[in-house]
Amino acid sequence: MNLSIIGAGYVGLVTAACFAEAGNKVLCMDVDQSKIERLQQGVSTIYEPGLSEILRRNQREKNLFFTSDIEESIQKSDICFIAVGTPMNIDGSANLRNVFNVAESIGRYMRNDMIIVTKSTVPVGTNHKIADIINCELIKRECYFDFHIASNPEFLREGSAVEDCMHPDRIIIGSNSEKAINIMKELYSLFANNDSLIIMDIRSAEMTKYAANAMLASRISFMNEMSQICEKAGADIDLVRLGIGSDSRIGPHFLYAGCGYGGSCFPKDVQALISMSQHLGYTPVLLEKIEQVNHTQKHVIINKITHRFGEDLSGYTFAIWGLAFKKNTDDMRQAPSLTIIEELSKRGAHIKAYDPQAIQNAKTKYLRHIRNIEYAENEYEALIEADALVLVTEWEQFKNPDFDNVRQRLKNRIIFDGRNQYNGKKLAELGFEYYRIG
Ligand code: NAD
Repeated sequence: MNLSIIGAGYVGLVTAACFAEAGNKVLCMDVDQSKIERLQQGVSTIYEPGLSEILRRNQREKNLFFTSDIEESIQKSDICFIAVGTPMNIDGSANLRNVFNVAESIGRYMRNDMIIVTKSTVPVGTNHKIADIINCELIKRECYFDFHIASNPEFLREGSAVEDCMHPDRIIIGSNSEKAINIMKELYSLFANNDSLIIMDIRSAEMTKYAANAMLASRISFMNEMSQICEKAGADIDLVRLGIGSDSRIGPHFLYAGCGYGGSCFPKDVQALISMSQHLGYTPVLLEKIEQVNHTQKHVIINKITHRFGEDLSGYTFAIWGLAFKKNTDDMRQAPSLTIIEELSKRGAHIKAYDPQAIQNAKTKYLRHIRNIEYAENEYEALIEADALVLVTEWEQFKNPDFDNVRQRLKNRIIFDGRNQYNGKKLAELGFEYYRIG
């Protein structure tokens, strides 16, 4: 099939690569010219395990192309996927400008019947607005083409996006068009069997994405709240996690206390769901608390640091292990590291940071405004002359470090563990002062 994917970000690029790998002809389009130039040269613009190889192979085999020309991408395809960003407005609602711009272009440039599929996370009712916009443009052109709308929310996880795309738990298709549903079934037949396809109406599909993210965020905030109570009560959140996670009604996933959730999805999608509910006249008390707990949790490590070193941190240096919002990605959107580093910097601390993939993003975008920061070549270099180590992201390479090496390099043997990765008893035997969550 001839597909166009509009938006070459974490979702669009991975989707384009995986559909090309499945034997389709894919044209991936983005407004960011420099991104497209790099992709055309075979350079992946994001870090995602396994992605570079698939991109290169499919470009070589002429299954996958990149363009910044929206007209070309619409006219060369039968199925158009919208995978552009839907960032958060100041009031928390989803900003749909990108999505509606694409819809306008589709209406303006389409010259054959098409299936339009929305992968971007959008509030309930958005796909109907997309259809209205396309219709409106077609009326202006005084021409008629048949088009079918489908909502196909994306559930891939950054860090395992290729694997998730190729082997999804389930695929949601929201559409009232039999034609669109049948084509989507065929398109996904290489990735999933019929049992993992869930067909529903468009509004329910749009809502499913928000409900899924709110549920996952609620589990994290629940455990973070439990961790606070554990600290006060003298209980151990990790033992509590094992205790409740073994209950088949609860299950073990997303029960890890830490320094708060981040990323491009949970914070923005919970906020967008709150905003959408409010517009519908409903006050979503639970959702508001999920976000409130998360906001508080991002400050827990800082509170532990100031409790240990005092409010004025000038003269102290902190080694930060991990900048990405989670392991195996270079994405720093809403990462807990941002709050921690900003709070340290505000108090005059010097920061030595290391992350296996996110340093470039930190330097050029997210931490450009921080003056008292330097970046290390590796995790051990970040420790030299530091007063404490702060573990922020759970990268595998930080899991079992050489603690003798850590001990030798740190000025003070102090570790703040924002991900509960280490064994406190073992560290105490090695002479470390160890602080964790819960
Ligand atoms: P992203 O910011 O990484 O990428 C979005 C891309 O869209 C950018 O490259 C941008 O230049 C491009 N773009 C913006 N306007 C455009 C336009 N008019 N025409 C063409 N390109 C345009 O975003 P992302 O993380 O890939 O997320 C995309 C959507 O998928 C969002 O709605 C997000 O909520 C959702 N989503 C993201 C994830 C994830 O893990 N990142 C998972 C599931 C769903």
